[in-house]
Amino acid sequence: MTASSPRKPTDEQTAGSNGLRPTGAPVLVWFRTDLRLADNPALAAAVAADRPVIPLYVHDDSPPGQRPLGAASKWWLAASLESLDASLRERGGGLTIASGSAATLLPAIVAATGADAVVWNRRYEKAAQAEDAAIKAALKAAGISAHSFNSHLLHEPWDVVGKAGTPIKVFTPFWRSARASGEPMRPAPAPAALRFAPFAGAVPATTTSLGLRPTKPDWAVEMADAWRPGEAGGRESLGRFIDDAAKGYANNRNLPGRTSTSRLSPHLRFGEIGPRQIWHAMRAAQESGQTRASDYDVEKFLAEIGWREFSYHLLGQFPELATRNFQTRFDAFPWRDDAAAFRAWTRGRTGYPIVDAGMRELWRTGWMHNRVRMIVASFLVKHLLIDWRKGEEWFWDTLVDADPASNTASWQWVAGSGADAAPYFRIFAPVLQGEKFDGDGAYVRKYVPELARLPNTFLHKPWTAPGPVLSQAGITLGKDYPRPIVVHEEARNRALAAFRSISAEAAE
Ligand code: FAD
Repeated sequence: MTASSPRKPTDEQTAGSNGLRPTGAPVLVWFRTDLRLADNPALAAAVAADRPVIPLYVHDDSPPGQRPLGAASKWWLAASLESLDASLRERGGGLTIASGSAATLLPAIVAATGADAVVWNRRYEKAAQAEDAAIKAALKAAGISAHSFNSHLLHEPWDVVGKAGTPIKVFTPFWRSARASGEPMRPAPAPAALRFAPFAGAVPATTTSLGLRPTKPDWAVEMADAWRPGEAGGRESLGRFIDDAAKGYANNRNLPGRTSTSRLSPHLRFGEIGPRQIWHAMRAAQESGQTRASDYDVEKFLAEIGWREFSYHLLGQFPELATRNFQTRFDAFPWRDDAAAFRAWTRGRTGYPIVDAGMRELWRTGWMHNRVRMIVASFLVKHLLIDWRKGEEWFWDTLVDADPASNTASWQWVAGSGADAAPYFRIFAPVLQGEKFDGDGAYVRKYVPELARLPNTFLHKPWTAPGPVLSQAGITLGKDYPRPIVVHEEARNRALAAFRSISAEAAE
């Protein structure tokens, strides 16, 4: 893949400071992946200029050159938009949703409402940046001012560079450089009051008319129990984490059987909370003693936020991160086409309990613990030799936090084809991973209940249990729970041979 620097998009070159003059005319506030009122620089700019606002979300089912949202993300988006609307209503206004192309809708809405400015917070996928640049140019050509801001990241991807001013491909120097660029900007609180101007210029849509939620069947029932989408939900998750799971995070974050991480990822994905808010809340809790987390726990947690930043930095360098191998030698990798194995993986029926628990957690809740994401991804790519892009697409459709940078960078990391990737020859042994990180079996028992009565000794490898143990646990292998679809050692050797084939080609 050809690398280029993560560039500040050309349309941003002139953005400068807030730039909004106090003309008194309405400002269109175009919400995208920033569905919050606090720490929202675009909204804050309109408030600072003492202008009435028109809050707008545009839903485009086929955005130009961009990937439509997956089904789980659409479910989350519906609730998130409703939550933002409720917050705006509390302030006397509301959110208007429009359906269609932003390039067509924005000028029409501007003309009909008498707005003389449009503000938004930036997106970072190349096609989205191109769309924003084109819209900004068209608005400016029509005499409408347009301003964009950063709400999504601690630092803009193009601001973090290596010693020679070049983009960085390895996490540690990236994070060192990001940290050296100073403390992230302090987040502004949500505006206590807003003035609203009436909406006009398009037929408003609703989350129902957009069909964002599943109906027949409604597969999201358990997701609704597991999550509270929206700004308040994000704030609550952060508060709970600071008060509780942050203590011991550095070690416990690998244990899927307990709530050992923040579960902030979908809130971050939709911008219901921003990384700067998380950063400063963590620091304040550290200084005030509100959290019992050690300094090491806090650093480890902030470094995970750093991995998110790094993923965006990589996406800036390699816009085709979702579709092309970062390391081109993987273009020759002998992937297998195996529909039955892929189906078994997606359904959580591979016969490896830790893999199956992860895939079922994903299906039921729209989320999966990070350690288990690594295990299931490694299993797909290495044990089954199925192309990482198929796994990435499945995650894209089923994760509520499906993120254009983190999902693609993480899949390439696991596959070994990524920038700062895990070496391909490091192949997770699913049984050992299960025994190490789910030793008491709490995670597997929760998501693979048919194995719940197996003793811990056999829980992660039921096929080794003697017949009487299986019958006492009420299990007939091959009927109640599958036998392993591949034998670990054989699959491992096959994966290593496949990898050697591309290494030999690369060496020729
Ligand atoms: P915490 O441990 O509490 O971390 C706090 C925040 O740091 C997270 O919310 C997330 O924003 C960020 N973060 C943590 N780990 C990573 C990481 N490895 N890479 C990037 N950011 C990270 N994360 C996504 O947000 N969206 C995805 O689509 C996604 N796909 C993934 C696919 C695979 C194959 C793998 C291995 C990882 C993926 N991750 C993804 C990263 C990680 O698994 C999740 O961010 C994490 O599990 C979210 O849980 P949390 O909020 O409790 O994390």
